[in-house]
Amino acid sequence: MTRYPNLFTPIELGAMTLPNRILMGSMHTGLEETGDWDRAAAYYAERAEGGVALMVTGGMAPNREGGVFPGAAGLFTAQDIANHRRVTDRVHAAGGRIAMQILHAGRYAYGKDCVAPSAIKAPIAPFMPQALDEAGIEKQIADIVTAAERAREAGYDGVEVMGSEGYFLNQFLVARTNQRTDRWGGSLENRMRLPVDVVRRVRAAVGPDFLLIYRISLIDLVPDGQSWDDVAALAPRIEDAGADILNTGIGWHEARVPTIATSVPRAGFAWVSAKLREIARVPVITSNRINTPEVAEQVLARGDADMVSMARPFLADPAFVAKAAAGRSAEITPCIACNQACLDHTFEGRMTSCLVNPRACHETELTYTPTDAPRRIAVVGAGPGGMMAAIVAAQRGHHVTLFEQADHVGGQLDMARMIPGKEEFHGLVHWFEHELERTGVTLRLGQPAQPAMLRDYDEIVVATGVTPRDPGIPGQDAPNVISYVDALRGGAPVGRRVAIVGAGGIGFDVAQFLAQGDEPSPTEDAALWRREWGVSDPAEFRAGLNAEGPQPTPPQREITLLQRKAEKPGRRLGKTTGWIHRMHLRMKQVRMLSGVNYERISQAGLHVSFGAERSDPTLIEVDTIVLCTGQESARALADALTSEGRTPHVIGGADRAAELDAKRAIDQAARLAASL
Ligand code: NAP
Ligand code: SF4
Repeated sequence: MTRYPNLFTPIELGAMTLPNRILMGSMHTGLEETGDWDRAAAYYAERAEGGVALMVTGGMAPNREGGVFPGAAGLFTAQDIANHRRVTDRVHAAGGRIAMQILHAGRYAYGKDCVAPSAIKAPIAPFMPQALDEAGIEKQIADIVTAAERAREAGYDGVEVMGSEGYFLNQFLVARTNQRTDRWGGSLENRMRLPVDVVRRVRAAVGPDFLLIYRISLIDLVPDGQSWDDVAALAPRIEDAGADILNTGIGWHEARVPTIATSVPRAGFAWVSAKLREIARVPVITSNRINTPEVAEQVLARGDADMVSMARPFLADPAFVAKAAAGRSAEITPCIACNQACLDHTFEGRMTSCLVNPRACHETELTYTPTDAPRRIAVVGAGPGGMMAAIVAAQRGHHVTLFEQADHVGGQLDMARMIPGKEEFHGLVHWFEHELERTGVTLRLGQPAQPAMLRDYDEIVVATGVTPRDPGIPGQDAPNVISYVDALRGGAPVGRRVAIVGAGGIGFDVAQFLAQGDEPSPTEDAALWRREWGVSDPAEFRAGLNAEGPQPTPPQREITLLQRKAEKPGRRLGKTTGWIHRMHLRMKQVRMLSGVNYERISQAGLHVSFGAERSDPTLIEVDTIVLCTGQESARALADALTSEGRTPHVIGGADRAAELDAKRAIDQAARLAASL
């Protein structure tokens, strides 16, 4: 008997029956653009082998002007069709089904030839789109239809027409982006014409037995977005036009409300899908921040939707479905919704991967093959790098001992999980603990490893991490100065007025932590989170943005966050999440100062000046000063081993503290352990 009866109830979709209610949602990976079709096929096939019954590809451009970026993949030539056939064949051979998403980016396309209903530039794109004339609109529709026909030719089981997230079809639906006065703009009937025509003509072209998913924007989260009446009018028209199923889209890309970041409550938008399900005649798929079988099951049991779409969780673990079906959900590598190796990479034009699973999109080149020569391996340091190295090496058949000087595992992750909005890190630490045990790693907690203890090992992996950098500010030894470690672990009292020295990832996190104080984390309370970000029922407020705007809980402390660089604080945070951190700290009235010199610390507070001329000497009167001034590699053990003539493998922060982060540490660890 499954623990997830709703999740594993079969469902009929159009002409097909699926064995479970999970859709692997569309994600751009960059694989289709590499030209390495074995690699692309391996990525999708591994997920089908892992039990995904239906998956949707990343968005494929219907034409050059509609591609998200120049060179975006699409089915333009016979060779493209043959290439995609290699993907669909592999997925079918693995027992899965696959639909191709057709994504016309409209004014979000990163190219000077981009087109849109009206010449209104998107706030997040550099190019002014050309307003289409009647012939231009006909060409866009015809190209989308052709893409669907070619998808069928390439062996896909269906298509998903992307009608949400502020892309081309969505742009026709609202006055914000559609100021036309012809039959494609103005009245609701006219604004709906393009999406409805697209679906009707795609259906006519592909025939009745080809799955047609329509991704419908349910809550635009932008000023002048759709009202709920607009959405409720569109849904039946899309159904009548031939969609088999409606997939949920949440928020435009230009929305200033987080929709998938880790601080968004789990299943935090399923309630909007539930509203659609009340009126829909076809099945409804919900999405956004669903990352465990337990949450997916709850959503279905509540009746919010007929299916659940998860995307990033399948980067984190291709065998998610098989593990859930077998009752082994504790083995599922959890997606922590950090975006660091997936969406951040996409927006930097880099290949997608996953922070917790470096094999994602590297399936053909990073393999964990069982060893035929098991060796004794010591790993020192149970942070993310050390734990990953230990698990991969043990999984391959090596005999692994993991030494950790603390009485618990986790390293920096153990601190990250204390930050409000980063609760997902709890699940990641639990997963590491579970996998260390399952793979048979011998764990020695509370044991600082010395070279003498490591003599009998064939290989030594040093993952001893980092120590906080000493900024050398005169007066920093005073009792009112503490390190971020003490601030987070409660090792020292923190007053009401605080200066945070250093505005890197940890400075931002500490500001968040101290501003929140002992108030409940909005990530754990969906109603509180919606109030904090100004999100409402779209039936009450157009596009789901309430009239009052964000109403954060008042900060528990008065905080000043400082850095020496003259640039905007937080500029180097994650590409897709930095704006959320910056905006949230502003909501918490955190004062951010750049270009400062730290002159000295006194009992009264922090004395700073500004710029190269050291002008405007200022005392920032505070009770506590928290040092978040970066890290130095903890290399004592590595150096001691080297001086004894050993050659340890040094990874993670111990190898390179600059830009230390879990993504690099885990990737480096996995690659090393795969090679031992
Ligand atoms: P960091 O990002 O390198 O930031 C260090 C901060 O300290 C900078 O603001 C730097 O700014 C300042 N600083 C450096 N040397 C200093 C000195 N001698 N005196 C005074 N100030 C100094 O390091 P971190 O904040 O410790 O974070 C470590 C890593 O953890 C990050 O790189 C990040 O990858 C990861 N992390 C990420 C997140 C996230 O949200 N993605 C959160 C936490 C941690 P100035 O030099 O301009 O003063
Ligand atoms: Fe999830 Fe982070 Fe991996 Fe992206 S990089 S799939 S958000 S864990």
